[in-house]
Amino acid sequence: MGWASRGEGEPDSVICQAAQRDNSTSRMDGRACYLKKPKVELHVHLDGSFKPETIIHFAKKRQIQLPANTVEELLKIISYDEPLSLTEFLSKFKHYMPAIAGDREAIKRVAYEFVEMKAKEGVVYVEARYSPHFLANAKVDPIPWEQEEGDITPDDVVDLVNQGLREGEKAFNIKARSILCCMRHMPKWSLEVVELCKKYHNDTVVAIDLAGDESLILEADAGHRKAYEEAVRCGIHRTVHAGEVGPPSVVKEAVEVLKAERIGHGYHTIEDPHLYKELLNKEMHFETCPWSSYLTGACDPDFTKHPVKQFIKDKANYSLNTDDPLIFRSTIDVDYNIAAKYMGFTEDEFYRVNINAAKSSFLPEKEKKDLVYKLQEAYDMVVTTGL
Ligand SMILES: [Zn+2]
Repeated sequence: MGWASRGEGEPDSVICQAAQRDNSTSRMDGRACYLKKPKVELHVHLDGSFKPETIIHFAKKRQIQLPANTVEELLKIISYDEPLSLTEFLSKFKHYMPAIAGDREAIKRVAYEFVEMKAKEGVVYVEARYSPHFLANAKVDPIPWEQEEGDITPDDVVDLVNQGLREGEKAFNIKARSILCCMRHMPKWSLEVVELCKKYHNDTVVAIDLAGDESLILEADAGHRKAYEEAVRCGIHRTVHAGEVGPPSVVKEAVEVLKAERIGHGYHTIEDPHLYKELLNKEMHFETCPWSSYLTGACDPDFTKHPVKQFIKDKANYSLNTDDPLIFRSTIDVDYNIAAKYMGFTEDEFYRVNINAAKSSFLPEKEKKDLVYKLQEAYDMVVTTGL
C-alpha cells in the first residue's frame, strides 16, 4: 500500500464551489479543484512523516526489532484515525524512531522522501521541523530511543537532513526549508538547538520551534528562554507550539517571553478574547492542523465548531497543515477536504490561506515575494480559464 493511498478515515472528497457553479471540467482527474492548486505548508514534523516502507527497510537492514514487519501491521500500531490523548499520541514515536535514528543513510533518505511526498501533494513550499537530538546517537544526553551510543551528533543530523532536503528539491522541483525543534521536557538541549540554527542559518534551516508537552512550566528551567533570546539576537525566526491543548496563557507566554512570530496550532487563544484580539491586530500567524486537532483531542471533535471557523470569520492569519501525516494516516488533502466539507471554505479562503502562509513563511523577503507571486499566478490563471 503506497503512501498517498493510505486514507481510511479521510473525509469524503468534495467539490469546490467554483466547480459546482460552472460545472467545469476541473474534476476530470477526480480531485477537487482546490486540491490541484499549489500549496504552502508550514507545520509538518519530519519525524512524523516517514514512509512506513522506509521504516521497515532500515529496521531489517539494521536488525532492529519493530512491533510489526508489514506496512499494514505497522500502521495499525503507529497510526490511528480515532481521537487519542496527546500522551498516547506521543507514545507512537518510540515504536519506529529507533529504525531511523542514528543511521546516516536513513536520516538522509527520510528527508529526501519527505520532499518527494510533499511534491506529490502539490506543495510548492514546505517547512519541515524536527528535533536534531531525537535522530542522534552521540553527544546527546540522554541518548534517545534506548539506542547504543554511536557517532551521529545532532550537528551531523542537521547536515544529513539538509543533504536530503536539497537533493529532494532538485529532484522534485519544490522548495523545502527546515525548522529545528527544542523539546519542552529537555530544556538543556535548547541552547544547542539555537547554535545549530545559527550554524545552518538559511542553509535550509530558517527557524527555531518549541514542541512537546505544553503543561510543563517554561520558567522551571531557563534553557528555552535563553535559546529564544539568542534566536532574537541573531535574527533567527521563531515559532512555538502553544494553545494546542494548553490554555491561552501558554500562547501569551510564547508571544511575550519567547517572542514567537508564529504560533503552532493556537486554537485555545480564542478563549482569551483580549489576547485573541491583540494577536489578530498583530496579524499573528496560526499554523492550524485540523485533522491533527481532531485526533489529539485538542478541539471539539465537531469541525463545524472548530476554532478555524472563528479564524475565517475574523479574517485571521492562519494556514492549513498536516502536522504528523504518518501517525494520522493523512496527506494535506485530508485537511483541505475537512476545510471544504465542514468549515465552509470557499475558493477565496483557500487562496487567502495559502497567500497568508507564503507571507508568514520564514523565507528571506525576496524569496517570499517570489512565492507569493507564484501562488497569485496559479490562482489568477485558474480564474481566467474558469476552472
Ligand atoms: Zn506540531
